[in-house]
Amino acid sequence: ARSRFLKRNPKSADAHEKATRSMPGGNTRTSLFYAPFPLAIARGDGPYVWDADGHKYLDLLGEFTAGLYGHSHPVIREALNRALDNGLNFGGHGLIEAEFAEVLCRRFKSIDLIRFTNSGTEANLMAISTALAINKRRKVLVFNGGYHGGVFTFHSGHNRINAPFDFILGRYNDVAGTRQLIEDNALALGVVILEPMQGGAGCIPASADFLSMLREVTAQHGITMIFDEVMTSRLGVGGLQGEVGITPDMTTLGKYVGGGMSFGAFGGTEKIMRHLDPRQPDALPHAGTFNNNVLTMSAGLAAMTQIYTPAAVAELNLRGERLRGRLNALFAERNLAISFTGRGSMMNIHPTTASVENVEDTKRGRPEIRDLFFFEMLEKGFYCARRGMINLSLVITDEHADQFVAAIDEFATVHKGLLSAPA
Ligand code: PMP
Repeated sequence: ARSRFLKRNPKSADAHEKATRSMPGGNTRTSLFYAPFPLAIARGDGPYVWDADGHKYLDLLGEFTAGLYGHSHPVIREALNRALDNGLNFGGHGLIEAEFAEVLCRRFKSIDLIRFTNSGTEANLMAISTALAINKRRKVLVFNGGYHGGVFTFHSGHNRINAPFDFILGRYNDVAGTRQLIEDNALALGVVILEPMQGGAGCIPASADFLSMLREVTAQHGITMIFDEVMTSRLGVGGLQGEVGITPDMTTLGKYVGGGMSFGAFGGTEKIMRHLDPRQPDALPHAGTFNNNVLTMSAGLAAMTQIYTPAAVAELNLRGERLRGRLNALFAERNLAISFTGRGSMMNIHPTTASVENVEDTKRGRPEIRDLFFFEMLEKGFYCARRGMINLSLVITDEHADQFVAAIDEFATVHKGLLSAPA
């Protein structure tokens, strides 16, 4: 599949070669790189993208969850055009940000007050900094496999912690070990931050026990619990926190919430967030040239009120459950050592049928299955993440799902030997 990839994609190869002259590795976004070179995407429309060599793909990557609406959704286009008509970058308060903020505060239980940023990374930086400034502690508990942005990467492939805080690394879903770790560090620990389902690590949900232990122990020791819902907030009307019934002290948002524009936000209880109130003499600073940029505010408001309505949330996640169920049933019937984990509209393939509770578990099985899956799906016209992640968008239909199941069926048939091998 890889040698066919080289032959099929000369223009992407050229584009990458050219890009290496001005960007390290020809890349400005590490998560999009893969060998031998990444496809250059030239265009998108609705559920499809086209690469530089003219191949058409069903977009199942969904921009790592940010592409919830498909490409060029008419409602978002209209909101953006309206914003453009009135000019950009006013250097002043706008009229839209408060309306958008109100929608988000109403939607997420843990968010009484909210602040906007330009990315999820920044939202996490600000949330952690804010919490530590208030509780005057220094340490931050994160979990292996966690991804909270460019400077907060805790995938186990990364053997150095590339981050600006004093981090302690816990083991995701390890209830007893984490309780002990928190208790051992209780006085210095200011923040526990986690994704209630790890996305980048491979769509690994946190267990109910793990989340309730964290809620209980952090409350007991005055530690600020932050949910990074940059990806997972799409999994319920009130985010994944609403679905699992755990309310953190702070929440960070990003991706699709900005309607496809650059976006991030952090929010929390009134008690925490009022420290950012600039009317207070000792207010914590949080500036940012583009925090209230009108394109993001307009697209986000339109998206969250007109498109991703509670009915749309329910429908999309049901579609995801159904698709994942069909795929896993197909693998189980044939006794294949391969499965999809995830929840709702987010899923990830793993070359194992053992339960995946931790990023360590994703290393089970034969890694070449991931390569094969990715390159063969491309050949069949399905664009997924290199690591096997799929995020359904609202424009993926039942017919698309049928086509994908058929492609996987064929993949499973052709590679029966490899896929049946003991994991
Ligand atoms: N948190 C999570 C859970 C994410 O998945 C991401 C992005 N993949 C981020 C934070 C960072 O967001 P951004 O890329 O907008 O900086």
